Amino acid sequence: MNDEQLLRYSRHILLDEIGIEGQERLLAASVLVIGAGGLGSPAAMYLASAGVGRIVLVDDDDVDLTNLQRQVMHTTTRVGQPKVDSGSAALRQINPEIEVVALRERAQGARLQELVASASVVLDCSDNFETRHAVNRACVAARVPLVSGAAIRFDGQLAVFDPRTPASPCYNCLFPLDQGYQDAACSTMGVFAPLVGVIGAMQAAEALKLIMQIGQALTGRLLLLDGRAMEWTSIGVARNPVCPVCSTPGDITT
Ligand SMILES: [Zn+2]
Repeated sequence: MNDEQLLRYSRHILLDEIGIEGQERLLAASVLVIGAGGLGSPAAMYLASAGVGRIVLVDDDDVDLTNLQRQVMHTTTRVGQPKVDSGSAALRQINPEIEVVALRERAQGARLQELVASASVVLDCSDNFETRHAVNRACVAARVPLVSGAAIRFDGQLAVFDPRTPASPCYNCLFPLDQGYQDAACSTMGVFAPLVGVIGAMQAAEALKLIMQIGQALTGRLLLLDGRAMEWTSIGVARNPVCPVCSTPGDITT
C-alpha cells in the first residue's frame, strides 16, 4: 500500500482484526454484486469505500424516478441512465482507486457461472426468485460464498451460504424452487426506504468479513428483521441432505 492508501484505510488498519494484512486482502478481492438497486446501492458503496479492489456490478435496468426513494447510489440527474453506469459513477467518486466493472445485462447460464467463478464473494441484491436461484446454483457449482439479502415492506432478511463449509445450507435448502414461493416485487408491494440500507450494509459487512476471514460468518443462520418493531430474529438453518442443488448424487462427502 502507498501512503495515500495507508491514510484512506487507516481506520480499518487500526482495527486489530484487520490491520494491513486484512486491508490487503480487500484490495486483492473481487466481489460480484447482482442488482444495483435498493440493496445493491449501500452494499456496493460500502464495498467501494472499504477498498474492495474489484467490484462487478450487474443489472439490466435503468434508473427510474421511483427508485430514488431508497436506491441511494443513484441521483436525480442520472434518471434514465443504466443503473450500472450510474452506480459505477457513484463508486468511482467514493473511491477512484478501485476497479468497477459495469455490466448492463441479466446474467444467466454459462455467463453467470463465469462471473461467479471469478469472484471472491457474491452478493445477491436482486429482487426475484428466478435470479436468486440461478445465482445460488452458480455459487454452489463454483464453491463461492453467497451473501443473500432481501427486503420488502418493513421486513428484511439476511443469510450467508458458503459452499466451502460442509454443513452450510444453500439458498434452495431454505427456499426450495419447487415450493412455489411467489415474488413480491417492490414495484407493487412498497418498501420502507432505510430497510434496504440496513440489509444492504449488512451484506457488505458479511462480504468483507468473509474476504478477510475475520469474526464469525452468518453461515447457517437466517436473520429476519421486523422493521416495524425493530426486532431481529435469528434462526438456525440446516442443510437439506436431499437438496437437489447442493446434494448432487455422488457428492456424499460434503
Ligand atoms: Zn441446498
